Amino acid sequence: AITFENIEKNFGSLRVLRGISGEIHRGEVVAIIGSSGCGKSTLLRCFNRLEAIDGGRLVVNGMDLSKPKLNYRQLRQLRSQVGMVFQQFNLFPHLSVLENLTIAQRKVLGKSAKESAQLAAFYLEKVGLFDKASAYPEQLSGGQKQRVAIARSLCMNPQVILFDEPTSALDPELVCEVLQVMQQLAADGMTMVVVTHEMQFAREVASRVMFLNQGQVEEQGSAREVLTHPKSDRLRAFLSRLN
Ligand code: ATP
Ligand code: MG
Repeated sequence: AITFENIEKNFGSLRVLRGISGEIHRGEVVAIIGSSGCGKSTLLRCFNRLEAIDGGRLVVNGMDLSKPKLNYRQLRQLRSQVGMVFQQFNLFPHLSVLENLTIAQRKVLGKSAKESAQLAAFYLEKVGLFDKASAYPEQLSGGQKQRVAIARSLCMNPQVILFDEPTSALDPELVCEVLQVMQQLAADGMTMVVVTHEMQFAREVASRVMFLNQGQVEEQGSAREVLTHPKSDRLRAFLSRLN
C-alpha cells in the first residue's frame, strides 16, 4: 500500500506537486489522469524514489520515503517491491528477452540461473510471448516489447506496479494487446497505479480515478463518478477535450 500526505516536489522554483494526498490500497487499480505537465509522472516517480519528495509524508509498503536519504539496501528493497513500466519500455537492447527477465532476479534477488529462467518462462507465457525468449528487443513490435517489460516487472514479484503511459508510444493497433495483459493483471489482484490517457481502460479496469491539475488532486472517486459524472469544471473541460 502507498500512503501520501501533502507531498510536495519542486524543480528549482517550479512547484510541481503542491500538497497531494491520497492512498493506494492493496489490490486497487488507480488511474491517474490530467493534462500534460500537471505532475503525473513526477508523482509516480516519487513512489519508487526516482524522485525524492521535498515536503509532506510518503510511506510505501511500510517504508518511510519522507526522509531525504535512504541507504542502498533500502532503495534496493523498495525497487524490488515497486515495479515500474515506462512509455518507452526501457528494455536492455543488448540482452535477449530471457536475459532481460532474469538479470535483476539474479543480480538483485540473488537467484540461480535456473530458478530465474523458470520464473521468466512462466511470466513470458502469461503475457503470450513464450516463443520470443531468445529474441532481442529490436526484433519485437512495440506491443511485444511492452509485454516483455511487464513480464520483467512481474519477475521481481512486486507488491505494486507503476505504469507511466504504457501504451502512449504504441501504434493504435498494438494498444489493445497491452491493455489486455494489464486487465488480466488487475483481475489477478495486482495493485496498480496507471498514468493513462486511455479513458476506456480507466473506466473498465480502474477501481479509482485521480484527476490532477497543476500539482494538486482536483477530483477523485470511482471511475463512474469521475469519468461519467465529473463535478469540477476543469475535469469536465479535460474530458471534453479528449473526445
Ligand atoms: P505528461 O502528460 O506530458 O507526461 P506529466 O503530468 O507527467 O506530463 P511531469 O512529467 O510530472 O508531467 O512534469 C511536471 C512538470 O515538472 C513539468 O512542468 C515538467 O517540465 C517539470 N519537470 C519534470 N521533471 C523535471 C526535471 N527533472 N527537472 C525540471 N523540471 C521537471
Ligand atoms: Mg508524464
